[in-house]
Amino acid sequence: MPRVHFSANEIYEKCSTEQEANTQIINKNKAVDYFIVKEVNKSRYIFVDSNRYGIVWLNAISFMFMHIAFFIGIYRLFVFTAYKAWIFGVWISLFSAMGVTVGAHRLWSHKTFKATLPLRIVLMVFQTIAGQNDIYTWCRDHRLHHKFSETDADPHNSKRGFFFCHVGWLLTKKHPDVVLKGKTVDCSDLLADPVVKFQRKYYLPLYIILGVVFPIVACHYLFDCSWIDSFISSYVRYIVSLHTTWFVNSAAHMFGDQPYNPQIAPRENIFVSLVVMGSEGFHNYHHTFPWDYTISETGWKFNPMKHAIELWAKLGLAYDLKRASPELIARVKRNILQQSEDQHPYEKPHDF
Ligand SMILES: [Zn+2]
Ligand SMILES: [Zn+2]
Repeated sequence: MPRVHFSANEIYEKCSTEQEANTQIINKNKAVDYFIVKEVNKSRYIFVDSNRYGIVWLNAISFMFMHIAFFIGIYRLFVFTAYKAWIFGVWISLFSAMGVTVGAHRLWSHKTFKATLPLRIVLMVFQTIAGQNDIYTWCRDHRLHHKFSETDADPHNSKRGFFFCHVGWLLTKKHPDVVLKGKTVDCSDLLADPVVKFQRKYYLPLYIILGVVFPIVACHYLFDCSWIDSFISSYVRYIVSLHTTWFVNSAAHMFGDQPYNPQIAPRENIFVSLVVMGSEGFHNYHHTFPWDYTISETGWKFNPMKHAIELWAKLGLAYDLKRASPELIARVKRNILQQSEDQHPYEKPHDF
């Protein structure tokens, strides 16, 4: 990997901003695929070839075998018509999807509503079943994604193509900007929640019990499936849930309308909303109004998790639900809000 060091003075010669310095260096080297990374002491910069930094081969090979096993599992479930195992897979997917979309995403990442301790514990259990990393890590990456969308600091930057933002970002080393700018995202509120702190501390044993053992045992005893079908059902469900979540990062950033803010990449994608069972695919709305617990405008749109949150609010389990007002939505749609220098002006009222 070619790395060339320059002093800050060399770079900032006739430059007043980092962006200008970037442009100057790129022009000087005629290497548009290069980016610069600011070192911690801000005195030197490093050139890195952005096309060559690393595949994590252990992850790549593991993912390949995981998907071979996935297709073998699908084949077996079809051939043996294990319909009960399919039903169980869909049933438990609902709960794990709720843990991700309502728990990790709307509650912890964006604070779109507040939840009582019992509800937070239940959502933590569901999120653990999903097996998508602990809540703290999930939310930290997601806040970084919102703050630096479609830049190198976005962990799944959609400008690097569908494959990268869908799964490739998990198979390659993090871009240095992800690490550097990740430090600017405040996640102290997450660790202030004892539920998040507990899950992070005991994530591995919790995941083995709740995400691996529990679904297999429940499928075997509650749905009367064989042990092998129970295992395959749980495994297939896990791989499907990973891809459905990844579609929010890929398809919902590439395909669909942009009725609220055409200046950002996220789009309104009904297919993604259906597969994640939570309406997270209405992504142009969500990136425009990230503090809104409904994740989409009211109306015909598929939004089961919105109703779940409202039901919990009626039962006293959820409170302080935040919504974008119809007036604000109308103003934004007419594009009369002041555009600032910020890339995502409408996210300003949102402090995570
Ligand atoms: Zn979000
Ligand atoms: Zn997004």
